[in-house]
Amino acid sequence: MGEQPRFEQPRFVLHLPFTATSLDAAKLFARTAGRSLAFLSQLDVPETTLSEEDNQGVRHRIFCDRLLSGGRGRCALRADHPNDCTAVRP
Ligand SMILES: [Zn+2]
Repeated sequence: MGEQPRFEQPRFVLHLPFTATSLDAAKLFARTAGRSLAFLSQLDVPETTLSEEDNQGVRHRIFCDRLLSGGRGRCALRADHPNDCTAVRP
């Protein structure tokens, strides 16, 4: 069958509205939703962004995703976290 690597296929963005009490609550929900769906290989969860429904031109990154030194992969923490980057979630 030979499925193609996901990044050689066309990419799309899923717009899935939801409700939350604030931007911080929405970011928490988006991180939780992204991590819970990470088993789906079609998703690029670290690239998740969030926008307000009425201001979709302004996107907020959800995950840090910085490249770690020494071939340790990418940071798994939330965007703008205050501590050092790590590949492991707290
Ligand atoms: Zn980080």
